[in-house]
This record gives sequence, C-alpha cells and structure tokens, in this order.
Amino acid sequence: MSSPVLCGLPPEELAALLNFLPRFRAAQIFKWIAAGVSSFAEMKNLPLSLREELAGRFALRSSAVDARREDPDGTVKLGVRLADGARIEAVLLAGGNGRRTACLSTQAGCPAGCVFCKTGSLGFTRNLTSAEIVEQFLFLRAAALEEAAAAGEGAAESRAAGAKGRAGRAVANIVIMGMGEPLLNLAEVRRALAVITCRQGMDFSKRRITLSTCGIGAGIIDLAEKGPAVRLALSLTTADEALRRRLMPITEAHHLSEIKEALACFQRAGGGRITLELVLLGGINTRGEDAAALADFARGLDVVVNLIPWNPVEGLKTDDGRPLRQPSSGEAAAFASRLEAAGLKVTRRFRKGRGVMGACGQLGVLPERRED
Ligand code: SAH
Ligand code: SF4
Repeated sequence: MSSPVLCGLPPEELAALLNFLPRFRAAQIFKWIAAGVSSFAEMKNLPLSLREELAGRFALRSSAVDARREDPDGTVKLGVRLADGARIEAVLLAGGNGRRTACLSTQAGCPAGCVFCKTGSLGFTRNLTSAEIVEQFLFLRAAALEEAAAAGEGAAESRAAGAKGRAGRAVANIVIMGMGEPLLNLAEVRRALAVITCRQGMDFSKRRITLSTCGIGAGIIDLAEKGPAVRLALSLTTADEALRRRLMPITEAHHLSEIKEALACFQRAGGGRITLELVLLGGINTRGEDAAALADFARGLDVVVNLIPWNPVEGLKTDDGRPLRQPSSGEAAAFASRLEAAGLKVTRRFRKGRGVMGACGQLGVLPERRED
C-alpha cells in the first residue's frame, strides 16, 4: 500500500493523522507544505530523526509534473502524472500587470460529455483527490514565481506582498475550470479549498476563487449552504432548453428550471454576482432565440454574461454530425449587442492559452515529456 499523502489534508485531518506527535508539530508541517517544500528534509525546524521518520511513513505529494508548454502570451500549461498513471492538466494564465490565474482540474476526464469540450470527449476516468487538486495549485504557484522572477517582478512584488511573502501573491486568482465537473467531486474540492484558503497556511482568499459548473443544482445548493464562499460561474452555453440538451446532455438530468432555482438560492445565501459563461458556437447558439431565452433566464438574478468564442478542437461535432466552428467576429458582436439591448451586462473576455491548447475546453491533449 502507498503511504498516506499529507499535502491535501486540512489542518484538523493532518493533526489527527499525526496525533502521535505534539500538536505544534502538525502545525509546523502544515506551514511547510503551504510554503511549497517538496521533501521532509527541507523542514528545518523539525528534528532530523523526526524528518526521517516522517519520510519513511508518509508522502508529501502524490503527483508530478511531466510536461510543460509555454505560450508567447505567457500561458503555461502543465501536464501532471498521477500516482496511478492517469494524467491531467493545470494551466497558469497570465493577465495584465502581472496578475496570474491558476486554472485547476477536479477530475481526470469528465462524465458530462458536452459536445464542444475536449475534456468531455475523453470520457470519465475518476475523481481527483484533495491532494491532487492542492498539488496543481502548488505546481502552478511555483511556475508563477519563476515567471515573475523572469519578468523582473521580484523586488517590488516582495515589498508589496509584505507579511504574506512572495509565494502568497504569485497567483492572483484561482479558477476551478480545468478538466472535470467540480460539483460532481464536491467533497474533495471542498477539502482542497480548505487547505488552499487556510489562514495558517496558503491563505488564499475565497473571494479570489471562482468555481465553474455545468449546472448541478444540488451541488450549487450544497455550496450555498455549507460553503466555502467562493464565486460561482455557470457554463450555460444557451438558455434554450432543447438546444442545451443537445449540446450539454447533462441538461436532461438537470433542467434549466432546477439550475435557475439553485442560482437564486446561491444569491440569497450571499454568493454575489454569478458569471454565465457562453461558449459561442458559430451558427448554433447565437440566434435571436438564444438571446431572448438568456434574457428570460437571467431575470431576477445578478449576473454578468461572459462570451467565449469556441476554441477549436479537432473532430468535435454536434449530435447530428455537423462540425463545430468558431463564430465570425461579426456574429459574436451582433449577439453581444442583442444581449446588451435586452439589458444584460456582457463581457467578451478572449481567453488566453489557445496556442498551447491551454484554454479550458481544450484540456486533455498535452503529450508527456520523455524523462530520459
Ligand atoms: N466542468 C466545468 C468546469 C470546466 S469546463 C464547467 O463546465 O463549467 C470550463 C469552461 O470551458 C466551461 O465554461 C466550458 O463551457 C468551457 N469550454 C469547454 N469547451 C470549450 C471550447 N472548446 N472552447 C471554449 N470554451 C470551452
Ligand atoms: Fe465537463 Fe465542463 Fe467540459 Fe462539460 S464543459 S464536458 S462539464 S469539463
């Protein structure tokens, strides 16, 4: 049997596992994990004999980066090999003025099967563990620190970061928008977020974390009721129910009425403005009916609509065999104007990372690096 992995354990679970030690030792170890050390040997305030004992009984991490690709726009895509050989991807997106966003995966593959999504076309392998989610954050934070150092952001950044240290600021935002559906793995996502947001450790602000879901009503309500209080994005794609069923088959089990009720519940619980993500598929979901249905869906909710032109993924087709295509810029602009005319707040954020197939719907394709 493999050794228990420590990096995905919230403080109370770590303390319980290490209950043969005085409690302050678990707190020290938790801080070292948060600092990003990759071996027990680096935990300098532990006696040598304890470091050796821990190394014999436990593992700090369970996965390893086995591929890395960088885009000229600053996007870094990491391929990660899990202990059982499954592979996932994690992406660091570079924003303006050195603000970097870590995009985390929550499943290997995805069971939802959206027709426009590369991950969906892979099928479902398994849920990720808390450790596997936390490790992606640590890998991306290390990559962000390297990028910041290479860009000469070091000195000013350290001063601005103050007590939190440089590591605390290297990643400005987290989006849970990588491979997989987070609300179908909520228990492990919750444990991972408990680690990432813990004040005594990585101390990442919940309000700078956005969880994106394809619309699992019960999961949204669970999140609203029990937290953590992260921001929410819904991958709506279209509010025309019949079309959504064809593009996102999970709609058959989770109707738009259920999703809307869950979003309202999330907002009543103080969840704040919700982002409705619309992947624009040329000639498919940019019709007048889609704009009207969207305005209707959004009524009574505090939302912003984010339009994302579809990122090409070879071989993906609609259920009736038509190849998907990107919308023309005129088509996207006309659709945006329709939504605005209907009173909706619209953003058109062109996601980075397409060059490395690192935009979220393109994950699942980075070939592994040969080690020898
Ligand atoms: N499963 C979750 C989170 C991961 S998908 C969800 O669906 O929300 C993250 C985002 O990528 C979703 O908004 C999805 O609509 C979008 N997406 C999927 N495939 C895409 C593609 N080929 N081009 C652009 N965006 C895509
Ligand atoms: Fe899964 Fe999200 Fe892709 Fe749909 S868009 S298949 S829910 S990862």
